[in-house]
Amino acid sequence: MASSFDHTTRREAHLRPGEGYRVEFVDGVRFLWLRTPPYSGNTVGRIWNMLVFGFRVWRGTGWGPIERPDVIVGSSPHLFAALAAERVAARLSVPFVLEVRDLWPQTFVDVDGYSRHHPFVALLERIERYLYRSARDLEDLLPLRPNLRIVKGAYLEPPSVAYPKKADVDRNYVVLAERSLLEGGFTAIATHDERIIRWLRAYAYHHEIPSTAYEFQMLYGVRRDLQQRLADEGACMRVYVPYGTHWYPYFMRRLAERPANLVFFAKALLG
Ligand SMILES: Cc1cc2nc3c(=O)[nH]c(=O)nc-3n(C[C@H](O)[C@H](O)[C@H](O)COP(=O)(O)OP(=O)(O)OC[C@H]3O[C@@H](n4cnc5c(N)ncnc54)[C@H](O)[C@@H]3O)c2cc1C
Repeated sequence: MASSFDHTTRREAHLRPGEGYRVEFVDGVRFLWLRTPPYSGNTVGRIWNMLVFGFRVWRGTGWGPIERPDVIVGSSPHLFAALAAERVAARLSVPFVLEVRDLWPQTFVDVDGYSRHHPFVALLERIERYLYRSARDLEDLLPLRPNLRIVKGAYLEPPSVAYPKKADVDRNYVVLAERSLLEGGFTAIATHDERIIRWLRAYAYHHEIPSTAYEFQMLYGVRRDLQQRLADEGACMRVYVPYGTHWYPYFMRRLAERPANLVFFAKALLG
């Protein structure tokens, strides 16, 4: 389910006049576009748009029948969307998984300069904490034999939701990846950390996990030597290649995530 009003272009992108919703397949994925009010800029209109979307999802009526899902993934383009997804998951008694997409309300504080004590920021913080607590972890997903990509996470998160020390992140990565390899459906080991890759390869071999049940994934241009070696050794190695017209925001995000990438970029440009 997604809002029909396009945040990037600030235009109604999917519905004809008079339509309240529409089902559409995009690259094989079924989308249910829900009409939400238009807005421009970061104004009260935008908040209203978010609330209307959350309310329509939460209410769960006004469109055709939808079969009961095995799991509900609530994404956070904004927190009201994720909160509505959590409420629907609770109503249907299915596991709720929180996909953290955008950081709320951190962006308001860091980028827009709002005080942490601003009532809207405080409200978002409460919702965020509630969602983190509600999200079930890997154990709830394993019986569904999921197809999982395991990453360490590119963003700096507060200690309430993430391990502050890298050593703990690394250790937990291995724990989760081993669990997924043993009991999950398909595991994408998405890291450039050679020690972890070597360990998990040995682990998979030792536990006779078929090579069709997992693969390694890395970002295009990062540790090419290791990518090549793994492929030469017969491991399934997938490379994540971003493409399309929105290269600039993607590039800026990658830079913010890892400023050292500027050096890689400069080298590639000059070399
Ligand atoms: C396919 C894929 C999808 C991902 N999707 C997401 C996502 O949706 N959300 C999210 O938060 N994170 C995502 N990540 C993780 C994120 O992009 C970084 O890969 C991760 O934070 C870096 O950690 P690492 O596992 O490589 O290990 P680290 O211990 O951080 O790095 C190991 C070594 O790899 C090298 N390295 C790692 N990253 C880079 C880089 N960007 N540029 C150059 N060298 C590097 C360095 O030499 C480093 O010492 C994804 C990663 C992959 C491979």
